[in-house]
Amino acid sequence: MAAIVVRCPNCGTPAQRHLLPLLAQSRTECHRCDYLLVTCTRTGKVVEAHAPGLSAATLRQQLTEPLPVAIAARCHA
Ligand SMILES: [Zn+2]
Repeated sequence: MAAIVVRCPNCGTPAQRHLLPLLAQSRTECHRCDYLLVTCTRTGKVVEAHAPGLSAATLRQQLTEPLPVAIAARCHA
């Protein structure tokens, strides 16, 4: 399983993204703030999302762009 270090969009610390090819999912987890984002790598849609202070609905609204675009935008912010 490949693990990629990405910046947590919630608290900004390095978080881990695991690619799950068998499930066609990408799972981003931050152990500092309990952020979780699971997206489908085929459609880019959010499968599951959790972040302290943010509801899943809010996260989905923020992630209407394809995920790599959204993450890149956040990294530059
Ligand atoms: Zn975090």
